[in-house]
This record gives sequence, C-alpha cells and structure tokens, in this order.
Amino acid sequence: MSGITIALSKGRIFDETLPLLAAADIVPADDPETSRKLIIGTNRPDVRIVIVRASDVPTYVQYGAADLGIAGKDVLLEHGGAGLYQPLDLEIAKCRMSVAVPAGFDYQQAVRRGARLRVATKYIDTAREHFAGKGVHVDLIKLYGSMELAPLAGLAEAIVDLVSSGGTLKANNLVEVEQIMPISSRLIVNQASLKIKREQLQPLIDTFATAVASRHAERAG
Ligand code: ATP
Ligand code: MG
Repeated sequence: MSGITIALSKGRIFDETLPLLAAADIVPADDPETSRKLIIGTNRPDVRIVIVRASDVPTYVQYGAADLGIAGKDVLLEHGGAGLYQPLDLEIAKCRMSVAVPAGFDYQQAVRRGARLRVATKYIDTAREHFAGKGVHVDLIKLYGSMELAPLAGLAEAIVDLVSSGGTLKANNLVEVEQIMPISSRLIVNQASLKIKREQLQPLIDTFATAVASRHAERAG
C-alpha cells in the first residue's frame, strides 16, 4: 500500500476528526452513519479511511493495516500502546474516567471500612491500577457496554466508566464519587509506516498539530 490508511471509529470521534481532516484538505467521500461502507474513500486518491470499533483502532494501527488512527486515551491504556507512536493529543472527544455508585451508597465509608467492592467496567487494567494505588480491595467484573446497568441490576456496587455531562449517570440514579483521569483522543501512528511513509505522514501530523494549537489559541484568546 503506497497510500495512507486512517482508522477511525464512527460517532463522536469521526465527527470531531472531520475539521482536522479538513485542515489537511481531506474530505471523506461518504458518511459512515448512513453508508454501510467500512472503507471510505476521500477527495484525495492517496488517502482512505477504515471504519472500525473504537477499541479496535489501536490494533489496526499496531499491525500496520492502518498507518494512522485516532483513539481515546481510555482505549489506548487498555491496549497498552505496543507498536504505536503517539505524537499528539488531539483534545477531541473529551471526557473523564470516573467511579460511580448508586445514589445513597456511601462509597467513602465502604472504602474506609476496607470493604471488598465489586466494580463493573470495560476498563479492567486502568481500574485495577487505580484501586491498587489507593489500597482499595476490588473484584473487577468485565463488561463490554452499558456499565450503568450493573449496580441497578445487582451485578456490582460500583462502576468505572466515562463521564462527560453526567446525564447518563443521573438518568440511572448514579453519582460520580471519584474522578480517575481526564480522557481525550490521540493521534496514533504505526512506527514502521512513519519510517517508510514519512514524506506523506509527517505533513499530516504537522497539520493536525497546527490545527490543535490554533484551537487552543482561540479558546485562550
Ligand atoms: P463501541 O461502540 O465500539 O462499543 P464505544 O461505545 O466505547 O465503542 P463510543 O462511545 O463511540 O464507543 O466512544 C468512543 C470513544 O469516545 C471512547 O473510547 C472515548 O475515548 C470517547 N468517549 C466515550 N464516551 C464519551 C463521552 N461521554 N464524552 C466524550 N467522549 C467520550
Ligand atoms: Mg458506541
């Protein structure tokens, strides 16, 4: 493959990546929300986009099936980052990773008592590290989605999930009791691609960096 393949997930990451691509004069030929295509061409014959699950983006880039990708820090922490160069925090798809419990559950008290907490999450490694760092004993239960349901259905006492407005938590009578870390999406690059296709990739990376920086300046200004 002499062209560039970019791995993106549908939804907020795709939407928030569009302006960055536009800054590099890249315009996707289809909308992944309405098209069923998994490979989307662009206005540039040398650039194509593959649409994959958010958690699969690092894998496509790690193995070189995509040269570039955009993935959340949450996903990158669980993936581990092997084979990936991470040159840039794009500051898109911002949210935070938090601990949440049902309203009325005294989390601090449970932690103080040294109780063994059952925690449901998609983010097993990050959650394990967080609770180990605090010396809190937990049994982690791996889920693949809808973490909010777990405490309501009696599967767990707490969840570790991503929160932005807090609307989903509120709708399910859950309360955020601890913020673990801020999350945003990063540009990831296959290390071999960067060497072999540097002439094509570096200008793109630079353009993204400039776009992020000028956004910063706008916000600050
Ligand atoms: P899939 O649909 O493949 O199971 P997913 O549901 O985790 O994956 P999204 O919800 O689209 O995928 O989230 C993709 C990425 O967007 C996440 O990895 C995270 O970095 C970011 N993200 C998730 N939730 C939020 C949120 N509430 N606000 C902002 N960014 C978020
Ligand atoms: Mg989703």
